[in-house]
Amino acid sequence: MDSFPKLSVIVPFYNEEDSIKPMHAAIVAAVDPLRIPYEMVFVDDGSKDATAAMADEIARGDPRVRFVKFRRNYGQTAAMAAGIEYARGEILVTMDGDLQNDPADIEHFLTKMAEGNDIVVGWRHKRQDKLISRKIPSVIANRLISRVTGVSITDNGCSLKAFRASVIKKIPLYSEMHRFIPAMASIAGPRIAEIKVRHHARQFGASKYGLSRVYKVLLDLMVIKTVSSFTSRPLLWFSLLCLPLMLVGLAALAGGLLAAIPENGRLSLPLTGAGIVFLTGAVTLIASGTLGELIYKLGDVRPEHFARLTGRVLSSNETRK
Ligand code: UDP
Ligand code: MG
Repeated sequence: MDSFPKLSVIVPFYNEEDSIKPMHAAIVAAVDPLRIPYEMVFVDDGSKDATAAMADEIARGDPRVRFVKFRRNYGQTAAMAAGIEYARGEILVTMDGDLQNDPADIEHFLTKMAEGNDIVVGWRHKRQDKLISRKIPSVIANRLISRVTGVSITDNGCSLKAFRASVIKKIPLYSEMHRFIPAMASIAGPRIAEIKVRHHARQFGASKYGLSRVYKVLLDLMVIKTVSSFTSRPLLWFSLLCLPLMLVGLAALAGGLLAAIPENGRLSLPLTGAGIVFLTGAVTLIASGTLGELIYKLGDVRPEHFARLTGRVLSSNETRK
């Protein structure tokens, strides 16, 4: 096998015993004719069925397959992150292991990457999933993600994407973050393109997600917004957060004092107590913001540390203020 493959195809599998062999065959059938050195990185995300045993068997029969096995189920993002870490290719293509994405599209991704893009995102324009529980939440989520991150991508949830390894390897991934890789990376200024891809209905097994994903995606969106906005202007953001606390605190305190007048000066404990608690919260937030500001402005934030912490690469005029 070539020691430095040009392409790595990364596929996470969780309880996909019926899909994994056809998946391997489909990737080989799609990529072999392209005549480039490539590898497949199969990640078993703690499957409880025969997926891991089959992956092992496939890897033994095909030296281009590298197999990473999790002891328990850590989730799709963690599986993808492990695959990305293990991958040695220059270009990394990620896709689902349930045959819903089509390896025949890999060729188009490579063409788009060769045009100078750093990230190419698939768009399942004829998505074969349920309307109410999948497609509608997805449309809303994608609009929200575009608004919040400022990166407009039609279909963030499509796993079929291609990345220049040097770009993706810098981005920390956790929770459900794999959906936001382009948004997170965009701060570093890569060239991002979008292409339409095929999408098939699930043939075997069941989807691993329900509506609970919506909540996780929303939380992750908040984290991304926080990380990308807070890092350069902590005091501004902390003071915005503190504003409602301050208002509620002052109102409660004023209410408590006013209520004390007809009561001959006896303060109402719930009202004044709440006021004090809220105001203390507000002061703590402001203090945290000030500390953040100090750390950012005075601290020696080395670009490589900063990138590791935030997934952001500082532009040259941002490195030192
Ligand atoms: N997956 C995974 N770990 C999980 C859940 C899913 O590795 O905890 C894999 C799964 O095997 C599949 C891909 O992630 O290859 C997408 O999952 P699924 O098809 O369930 O998602 P959907 O297509 O329904 O959005
Ligand atoms: Mg699927």
